[in-house]
Amino acid sequence: MIRFKGRVLLLDIEGTVSKLSFVHEVLFPYARERVGGFLAAQGSDAAVQDVLEQMARDDGAASFAAWYPGSASGMSPADWVTGKVHAWMDVDAKLTGLKRLQGMIWEGGFRDGVLKSHLFEDVPPGLEACAAKGISNRIYSSGSAAAQRLFFRYSEFGDLTRWIDGYYDTTFGPKRSAASYRAIAAECRVPAVEILFLSDVPEELDAAAAAGCQVGLMLRPGNRPVPGTPHTEIRSLAELELP
Ligand SMILES: [Mg+2]
Repeated sequence: MIRFKGRVLLLDIEGTVSKLSFVHEVLFPYARERVGGFLAAQGSDAAVQDVLEQMARDDGAASFAAWYPGSASGMSPADWVTGKVHAWMDVDAKLTGLKRLQGMIWEGGFRDGVLKSHLFEDVPPGLEACAAKGISNRIYSSGSAAAQRLFFRYSEFGDLTRWIDGYYDTTFGPKRSAASYRAIAAECRVPAVEILFLSDVPEELDAAAAAGCQVGLMLRPGNRPVPGTPHTEIRSLAELELP
């Protein structure tokens, strides 16, 4: 059990509220298979162009024009980006542009009903119980904020976004950096100690704890085994003792 006296419950997604395999065996393959077709169909949309510029910057280039080697390379811009996406996904790169592009590709699947996000069954009642106590539920994941919103809007339990007040992604910094949690606390307008962050990754909890947050290690079926940590372990949101 964790006795929680703060005001903000900050939740990781994969391995914490959703099984790891949903992300790795459903969402990631969906994006990987469709990225080429998505870029061919929608690559000239302004929103997609904006993401392509971000991807170029993530890779150290000044702009997409500077990044793309040109048609003389034998690759169309869509081929080039698809190759980069596949290579980055092979190493599970947490790059802002890649995450935004994945979210755009998933959006079609969520809206069409092909994708429904998996959540452990304690999650909807847990979010509702916290909200009922005046606790602000928020999400911090390496997936883009837009993709996080889709994830909770199109879940196996229906639309849960009414219980969630904020979505934070890598634009707040990497999840293993204490500064990211300080930035989120500032955005939430609470001292870090008022935040309880739950994650399946000990290094993320170390960073949040260094920033002053309360933390808990979530153990879920299908998670990778973790070595001993100083952090309190829970197996469900039902193990939060609320005020
Ligand atoms: Mg996780």
